[in-house]
Amino acid sequence: MMPNRPDWDSYFMEIADIVSKRSTCLRRSVGALIVKDKRILATGYNGAPTGLKHCMEVGCLREQMKIVPGERHELCRGLHAEQNAIIQAAYHGVTINGAHLYCTHLPCSICIKMLINAGIEKVYYLEGYPDDLSMKMIDESSIIIGKVNFQRPEKSVPVKTARSVPSGSSGVKTKDKKGPRKA
Ligand SMILES: [Zn+2]
Ligand SMILES: [Zn+2]
Repeated sequence: MMPNRPDWDSYFMEIADIVSKRSTCLRRSVGALIVKDKRILATGYNGAPTGLKHCMEVGCLREQMKIVPGERHELCRGLHAEQNAIIQAAYHGVTINGAHLYCTHLPCSICIKMLINAGIEKVYYLEGYPDDLSMKMIDESSIIIGKVNFQRPEKSVPVKTARSVPSGSSGVKTKDKKGPRKA
């Protein structure tokens, strides 16, 4: 085997990590990949629907109300990475029944419901996510969960903090805050 050639799990997880860099969420950058027979079918990262303003631009209620992770997802205008990956597959008419998901984070309860019904058989993740209902549904379903031991190239994806967006503001300039990462 060639030196430094990554195994499949590391390979897909590294791609999911790169996908997460397109995230426009203020709280966490998530990337997801739907894979079948070692082929990538769809990708997704978390952010607002196409053409709509991102939380980065108009602020996020979850952030402003200091909602703890794992709760009140409906307050955010963003779609989750896993949801966007499922939607991307639908957009192109690709069947994902029996496929695997690689995600930088363990899916929340909303996403796990969708993944179960989309026929996803296995979920590989890098970081946990505090959502008890999600864990219960994973236990109850036949979906298989696996943690991938993959070392991110950078220490971690930088966490964007609340101070990026003053509360109640709209049309906040984000250019100088985002740095090199374009949303
Ligand atoms: Zn948001
Ligand atoms: Zn989710």
